[in-house]
Amino acid sequence: MSATDSPEPRQIHVLVIEDEAAIADTILYALRTEGMQATHEVLGRPALERLRAESFSLVILDVGLPDANGFDLCRELRRFSEIPVIFLTARADEVDRVVGLEIGADDYVTKPFSPRELAARVRVILRRGGRAAGGAAPGLTGHPARFRIDETSRRIYCADKALDLTRYEYHLLRNFLEHPEQIFSRDELMQRIWTAPDHSLERTVDSHIKTLRAKVRGVLDGIDPIETHRGLGYSWKPHS
Ligand code: CA
Repeated sequence: MSATDSPEPRQIHVLVIEDEAAIADTILYALRTEGMQATHEVLGRPALERLRAESFSLVILDVGLPDANGFDLCRELRRFSEIPVIFLTARADEVDRVVGLEIGADDYVTKPFSPRELAARVRVILRRGGRAAGGAAPGLTGHPARFRIDETSRRIYCADKALDLTRYEYHLLRNFLEHPEQIFSRDELMQRIWTAPDHSLERTVDSHIKTLRAKVRGVLDGIDPIETHRGLGYSWKPHS
């Protein structure tokens, strides 16, 4: 797809691959309410065949399908298509796999979720031009001043300069930017970001915070937005 103008809702056609009828129905309803076209497939294999044969704008893909694993399906899809994919996940360990592996997802939503929010994410992803576009102007709005997250390339920009972040630093910073002023304990950060959370390793969080803090200060001319709350955890203080 092209990275030019935002597609009209009517031109957006989403394929929803979800085996639970109740969930699929709410998604289809939310997308259609937004004026988009939405098609439903219950099984992964037939859906993949449709994706080979037909043209869709975006795929919403449940990780747990009766006939296929959503991750495997996405990998197969990536062999012939760059269509944006939003994963629906039910469990924390699935989230870990989405964020931790190079599966080629554009976003993920954890169940239970708001169908309206999901529809909004579809619009955001299509507005920024999907995976293939990359380049100059992708990214989400609404993050604190100057920072921009590009989920496609897993990079975070500050004033258009990409920060050189490790995987954990990326997820830590992204978490802070998406939840400004919310205090996260080490344990919460570990649960959210680490693949195999281990309480004995909570100091690991501190060390990643330390290196992240140094990098953020580097791009913010010495300003340190990461606040340490003794005995509680860390939060992000938006700056102007
Ligand atoms: Ca399922």
